[in-house]
Amino acid sequence: MRVKCNACGGVYDDVLPDGLQYFHRCPPLSVAELKQAISDGRLQLPPAHQALVDAATSYDAANPPKPDQAPRLEQVLATFVVERKGARNENVVAPTARDQPAAIAAEGAGVTTLDASATPAVPVLRG
Ligand SMILES: [Zn+2]
Repeated sequence: MRVKCNACGGVYDDVLPDGLQYFHRCPPLSVAELKQAISDGRLQLPPAHQALVDAATSYDAANPPKPDQAPRLEQVLATFVVERKGARNENVVAPTARDQPAAIAAEGAGVTTLDASATPAVPVLRG
């Protein structure tokens, strides 16, 4: 069955072409997603992280990066691991009692079933 993750937009099949099951886990926010969420005010960073962002922003203003350099702000944001809202984690958690079924770690925002012939499979790999 091909599905689309409602949290990260990842499209994947629950069974891979080689027959193995695939258990999706949403990746943390990317640098671009972090920059957007911070500028939109949707993400409140812990004070220590916000101080790093402020220092990097000031550094970039005083020392504009050369064309072949990543801005200091992006270098700092790349070190942050921020899980997305509604993150899904299909990794199986062992049951805590006999006769209980195994469950996925987090349903998150859920998935939307897709027509397998309409959308090419794009495996989402956790980096
Ligand atoms: Zn996802």
